[in-house]
This record gives sequence, structure tokens and C-alpha cells, in this order.
Amino acid sequence: MAPEREWFEKDYYGVLGLESSTTDKDIQKAYRKLAKEFHPDANAGDAKAEERFKEISAAHAVLGDPAKRKEYDEVRRMVASGVGPGAFGGGGGFGPGFEGMTFDFGDGGGGLGDILGGLFGGGGRRGRGRQANAPQRGHDLETELRLDFLDAVHGVETSVALTSDAPCSKCHGSGAEPGTVPERCATCGGSGAIAVDQGPFSVSQVCPTCAGRGQVVTSPCSSCRGAGVERRKRNVKVRIPAGVRDGQRIRIARRGGAGRTGGPAGDLYVIVHVGSHPLFTRSGARDLAITVPVTFSEAALGAQVKVPTLDAPVTVKVPVGTESGKTVRVRGRGIQPSKGDAGDLLVKFDVVVPKKLNAEQRAAVEALVEKLDDDPRSHLGV
Ligand SMILES: [Zn+2]
Ligand SMILES: [Zn+2]
Repeated sequence: MAPEREWFEKDYYGVLGLESSTTDKDIQKAYRKLAKEFHPDANAGDAKAEERFKEISAAHAVLGDPAKRKEYDEVRRMVASGVGPGAFGGGGGFGPGFEGMTFDFGDGGGGLGDILGGLFGGGGRRGRGRQANAPQRGHDLETELRLDFLDAVHGVETSVALTSDAPCSKCHGSGAEPGTVPERCATCGGSGAIAVDQGPFSVSQVCPTCAGRGQVVTSPCSSCRGAGVERRKRNVKVRIPAGVRDGQRIRIARRGGAGRTGGPAGDLYVIVHVGSHPLFTRSGARDLAITVPVTFSEAALGAQVKVPTLDAPVTVKVPVGTESGKTVRVRGRGIQPSKGDAGDLLVKFDVVVPKKLNAEQRAAVEALVEKLDDDPRSHLGV
């Protein structure tokens, strides 16, 4: 038989009041004694005794079978070394992307590899009936957001609509039925840790019953069945920093899916799509660019032209003899990021050639050409 998910959390030795080093014979002895004591026939109407009897029977079903006991011991060793559902509760180590990965633990028999594969693979689904008392980090979520050019430049506070795990609206995420309170964990006495014998050492481990929370929910919320989360549509406020670029992926910590049974929320990743602007384009992280048409005479003789910026216009000098494509830099008129110096405005001049000339204008240009004796193609040597 394959190991059960419950094995990660249930301390069957503790249930029978035994050490893990105990003999098979002592397990049978302890079971017989406790089963007699808590048997429903001897405790008619006592719900607590009935619950205890069920626990004892479940413990015996595993520990009383040497093959199952061996597998259970293996699972418990992994729990003690920090592998198991509780290990993900803090969000450490695995991070986004562990869903769907398979792990080969080389145990040959398929037992542990199967159960761990199942646990990791099941990360994206609901609890599937396992004891939902181990805090689990919420899922990382990804969403897309369209931004106006100027909102991306200045930064903006907006909201994104998501359908995801959110704190249960009935129990507000506690997992306990409203009107009830979680009880102190009997296994660890509320400390969240237990002492485990490892050879000559006794080391402190996260309590497997309460997964370190120190308390257990005895009356799970009827709406979320103790998970503390429900799937629903929610609006998440996001603060977009000044200067985000098209395609940028912004991480918003702890605004992803709600954690289960007290676990932290996952992160939210927002991929921004930035719209275009009729005048400005982006250049690098914090520079803006604009193309400014100038006339032939402005380009030839030099001029002062007014150029729009993100705020008040600036006057920019067109140098004498400016050619199309020449770019000048207006310092500090680019994007002001939340940290650091503002970028620059890159002003690119575009010399506009008249499309149509009347006879008089044509004569004037020809008269000018007469006076100019430069040959821009002399270097071509033809
Ligand atoms: Zn609930
Ligand atoms: Zn505990």
C-alpha cells in the first residue's frame, strides 16, 4: 500500500504514547490497552473518547503492520529533515514553478516518490481531502495590465481584477467556524515544536500535528472546510512605479493567492503593456525622445525652437548647419524615476523640404544654388 498524505502530519507513535524505537510487540500491547479504554462500548455517548478511539485505530492500522510501519518511518524521517507540506509553509526554497515538477528520490519502490510527486503536483489544486492544518503559502499569480504612456512614465496606482484564492469570507481566513476558536495543540502543548530522538540526540522539530502553529482548528469553517481560503473574484490594488517599460514584469509581494491555514500569500506578478504617445517615445530606462521638424532655413541659419516636454515647454537651440537626424540632449527633462536622477529629453531634428514650390520660390532657390558652390558628393569620386 502507498503512503498516505496524513502520514506527514500524524504522529501515530504519539497517539499510542510510544517512542518510534519501540518494538512491534509493544505497539500491539499499547494498542490493545488503549483500544479497550476508549472503546465506544465502554464510553457510550462520549464524543471525545470516540474520536480518540478512531485515532488509536488509525495509528494501529499503520504501525501494527510492519511493512506499513517501515514506510511510515521513512516518511517521518523526511518530515524530521524538513521535507513535507509544512516545509513549504514559509515560502522558502521552492518558490514559483515547483508545481508540476516531479522529484525522483530513488526509493525504487515508488512509494515515497509517488507521494511527494503527488504533493508537489497537487500544489495547484485544492486540498483533496488531506488534513488541512499545515500552513501553505498561497500561489504566485500573474496578470497583465495595459497602461497609458503617461501613467507608465509618472507611475500610477491602479487595480487589477483577479479570480484566485482569497481569504474565506465566512471565517476571514482563520479556518475556524465563526463562534469557535482554535484549540491549543495537544501534541506540542501550544509551542509548535516537539522533541524528537535522533540516535543519542534529541532535536526540536516542527510539531507534526499543528505544523508549528501551536493550535488546531477543532471546528473547521463549514464554508472553506478549514482551509481559510475560497476562490473568488477580487480587485488588487497595485502601485506601478514611475518609468515602467513595455513588457516589464513587476513583482508585488504578498498580493498573490491567499495562503491556506495561516500560510503567507503568494506574490503577484504584473506584466505591463505600455501604450504609445503621439509625440514622445522611450529611449532606455529613463530618457524620452521627440522628433522636431525644422525648416531648411532654420537648419541652415540656426534657430531657437520651442519643444514640448512632460511639463512646461523648453526652448532648444537649432545649431547652424543642422542636418536631419541631428539629436540634442535636454538634461533632466526625461523620466523622473522614484529613485535616482531624472533622464534626458532627446530632441531629434528633422529638416523638412518643401514639397511644392511656385515659380517665384523656385527662382529664389535656383538663385541660392548659384551662390552655393558646395558638392556634398565630392568624396564619392564619381
Ligand atoms: Zn472559512
Ligand atoms: Zn502542535
